[in-house]
Amino acid sequence: MADERAKRIAERIAPLRVTPGSRVVLAKDFDPGYKADFVTKKDAVELLQQGVEVLSEYQERLAAQDTWGVLVVLQALDAAGKDGTIRHVTSGINPQGVSVHSFKVPSSEELDHDYLWRFAKNLPRRGEIGIFNRSYYEEVLVVRVHPENLTRQRLPKAARGRDVWKRRYRDINDWERYLGDNGFKIVKLFLNLSKEEQRTRFLRRIDLPDHNWKFSAADVHERGSWDAYQKAFSGMLSATSTEWAPWYVIPADHKWFARLCAAAVLANALFEIDPRFPKVTDEARKALRDTKVELEAEAPKGAASDPFADEGARTDKKARKKAARGARKATKRTNEAAATEADDG
Ligand code: ATP
Ligand code: MG
Repeated sequence: MADERAKRIAERIAPLRVTPGSRVVLAKDFDPGYKADFVTKKDAVELLQQGVEVLSEYQERLAAQDTWGVLVVLQALDAAGKDGTIRHVTSGINPQGVSVHSFKVPSSEELDHDYLWRFAKNLPRRGEIGIFNRSYYEEVLVVRVHPENLTRQRLPKAARGRDVWKRRYRDINDWERYLGDNGFKIVKLFLNLSKEEQRTRFLRRIDLPDHNWKFSAADVHERGSWDAYQKAFSGMLSATSTEWAPWYVIPADHKWFARLCAAAVLANALFEIDPRFPKVTDEARKALRDTKVELEAEAPKGAASDPFADEGARTDKKARKKAARGARKATKRTNEAAATEADDG
């Protein structure tokens, strides 16, 4: 069942994956308005809820296994919905198991180091899902579109030659490979927004008083460099989608669809890791049994020696019944979905 679900999700997100080695022209290859016809907005809410539950379950396993960490890299144009995506996708996850870092214009301390320094400092731990809201990819995006950012980095001459972007792509690919080899899986999401939808969202921020706080004149100014950004994004996607850390281009004109896709890509990564709860060793099990005997012997007069054992037996029975009911419902849903897909031809 879990394998079926993993297979279905992998198939659904396949069209969003940038094939390593391919040459991407964003405007031509990816439609920001795409919403797969297998899902309606109404279904998406329920599917996202199911996705959130899967993420919660797998994050718990990830933490228990304590071997792998996951880094989610989120890049987008302004108003593409990064914040809402993070909020929805992490909504069911134990807050102790997730970290979010936003990266802004580098501070003077950050500029005193190599450009990956501030990102390395904020990587997730094993067992954790870390989210970068903007990331080291800004180093081949905003820094490329506005080269004065590069001047501020005070690089030695050899490092700021014409091949600087190629070198940065190489640095990043190498760094991501190193992280992957050492137990950190990287999930890269680019929220792809259309120019027209961005215009509408900016106007909404102006027109709705309770959205005014989100409006930024600087964002509108950046919109003037739209073509340069599209080019920089295309270059980034072509050069840094690798087998070990592929990019997913998330259609972002429909927020509900973008959130569903983001959750699906993250779920897929967790399925690939397939974290397991650690096995209790025979020795540890014996220690548990010995301690149980000691605690039972301490029961005061009249009290059950292990109230939880009785309670546990009752709950177990209830849980088994509930699981059986859930399985019956899931089978019914799958059959109905198969029938609908068959009807749709
Ligand atoms: P929000 O607007 O939702 O709070 P945001 O990510 O847009 O989120 P801002 O403070 O508005 O946050 O913008 C951060 C700015 O920092 C962006 O314009 C981004 O391009 C810029 N930035 C990030 N990294 C770098 C970098 N390495 N060099 C220069 N500018 C950078
Ligand atoms: Mg902003």
